[in-house]
Amino acid sequence: MAKKYEGVAIGIDLGTTYSCVGVWQEQTDRVEIIHNDQGNKTTPSCVAFTNSQRLIGHAAKNQASSNPTNTIFDAKRLIGRKYSDSIVQKDQLLWPFKVTAGANDKPKILVNYNGKEHHFVAEEISSMILSQMREIADAFLESPVKNAVITVPAYFNDSQRRATKDAGVIAGLNVIRIINEPTAAALAYGIQKRANCLEERRIFIFDLGGGTFDVSLLTVKNNVFEVKATAGDTHLGGEDFDNRMVNHFVKEFKRKNKVDIIGNSKALRRLRTNCEKAKRTLSYDTEATIDIDAICEGIDFCSSITRAKFEQLNMDLFEKCMETVESCLTDAKMDKSSVDDIVLVGGSSRIPKVKQLLQEFFKGKELYKSINPDEAVAYGAAVQAALLSEGMKTVPKVTLQDVIPLSLGFSIKGDLMDVMIPRNTCIPVKKTGRYVTAYDNQTGVRIHVYEGERMIASENNLLGFFRLSVPHAPRYLPVQVCFAIDADGILKVSAKEKTSGNKKDITITNENGRLSSEEIGRMIQEAENFKAEDMKFKKKVKAINALDDYLYHVRKIMKDNCVSSMLTPVDKILIDSAMIKGKSLIDGNKQEDTFVFLDFLKELESIFGSALNKINKGYSGEESDSDS
Ligand code: AMP
Repeated sequence: MAKKYEGVAIGIDLGTTYSCVGVWQEQTDRVEIIHNDQGNKTTPSCVAFTNSQRLIGHAAKNQASSNPTNTIFDAKRLIGRKYSDSIVQKDQLLWPFKVTAGANDKPKILVNYNGKEHHFVAEEISSMILSQMREIADAFLESPVKNAVITVPAYFNDSQRRATKDAGVIAGLNVIRIINEPTAAALAYGIQKRANCLEERRIFIFDLGGGTFDVSLLTVKNNVFEVKATAGDTHLGGEDFDNRMVNHFVKEFKRKNKVDIIGNSKALRRLRTNCEKAKRTLSYDTEATIDIDAICEGIDFCSSITRAKFEQLNMDLFEKCMETVESCLTDAKMDKSSVDDIVLVGGSSRIPKVKQLLQEFFKGKELYKSINPDEAVAYGAAVQAALLSEGMKTVPKVTLQDVIPLSLGFSIKGDLMDVMIPRNTCIPVKKTGRYVTAYDNQTGVRIHVYEGERMIASENNLLGFFRLSVPHAPRYLPVQVCFAIDADGILKVSAKEKTSGNKKDITITNENGRLSSEEIGRMIQEAENFKAEDMKFKKKVKAINALDDYLYHVRKIMKDNCVSSMLTPVDKILIDSAMIKGKSLIDGNKQEDTFVFLDFLKELESIFGSALNKINKGYSGEESDSDS
């Protein structure tokens, strides 16, 4: 039985473009998807840095076009990847912010914050988004939350999973489980439909989000959710469709105006935002317009795009999605006609052409649309979080049986991949294999661990390697290699040579740019510092606003002739000069410390308060003798 955790646990869908958080509510016997302070249930996965503050979510997204180089989005596309990865190379051409290669080829995001250059790794940006989601939950639950289940695309590899977990740790969360997004969606579907069926039902989850695409085939019977196969692309989603539209309009603008907006990050950001809006419009309308004032070199851009053109621009990507659907069914050894429900998840599953192709693939079968595609993943994560928490009585006792998306193995003589655990094997799982020494008097064996489907080991993704010493071993000496995958889908490898008793656990080296525990520790400290700076900034804004409100209040009262005529000439001068000083403090560059605004507010309150007091006393005439 899985370990139970004390305290409330939340479920977080850490999306490429939007994130969402939910919590199981014992009172209502269901998941509450929590609103953020803007009243929205999804929060942009966006972080911005300015000369005075750090912004996360809507506040960051809203200022993106005026501060494009310091507004970071798409961190999920970078997480667990190397800088030299062709995907990162291609993506960065369209990002207005700067990414460079750090140590171990780890991508570094460069920003200007408070007038200084800072660099962040993707885990840190993701941790800021996770902290924001946690704060949303804290505010709703009126107490701090520690435990969380975080979702990842089913097709995330080992390094991407580990990096996501690290992001949670940097955010100060206790990540009690990493679960796959389509599996979480299936859980949401099962709970909402109360699919505690005695007869097996086959559910196909089609999850097309902002940056990732996942499909999974599951069976549900007696509250047991068993993933049969999963497939996907960790780099396919709404943003690719946006990119196609952006490129289309860049070309059109160049053709019409002989001006290239590539390289103008502000113009690109504005165009991208408008393209995303147009894409959404095309999900319910057949035509959408783009209208941007002075986009580049003072030229206005006004154009339109039809749904047919949008589909033509993206047809190869939509077809790629359908190929993935087919391969998942093949892996599960199931015929499409045996699927009972097709569930749509992820914002991009709203695209009419995608729905049409999917329905045609399943021979006209109705698609299940009653679950909210933006919230389903967080809903399922919240259910899993409740299942892992102590004292949750009303949560349905479901069991999840997930699989690994990629085969795992090690290289043997001739650079061949010896698969230890084939893809789509149920997790958690532990398998032991045998490796033999290649020659006499061998002193050690080097074990290279890979994931992927290629027969040539080095063509796969190298997860790490380690050396086990086997002093003076004869040829063919067996070495036991054990691969263990935990419920988060994370791998641990160990090797043992029986005669010498030598044993070693693999510590995945920095081969994939994984953060070391010291780096994580430093980032946790930095995250605390950022939080403290954010708090400091918020306090200052509050103090400035309070002073501004009070100035407004005094100005209004002073406009009342009755009051101003009763003030003593000295008080009038005192108030007027204090008002001028207050205004200049507010209108100035606000570089002063918070206490300057707070102290001045107190001073103004005292000047104005005592002046009013004198008027009041004058009216009542009380103590007038003792005043003189
Ligand atoms: P998710 O990662 O599930 O939050 O999905 C976000 C993606 O869905 C973004 O790329 C959005 O532009 C896209 N999206 C949201 N609503 C729609 C819609 N109505 N039509 C097309 N795409 C949408």
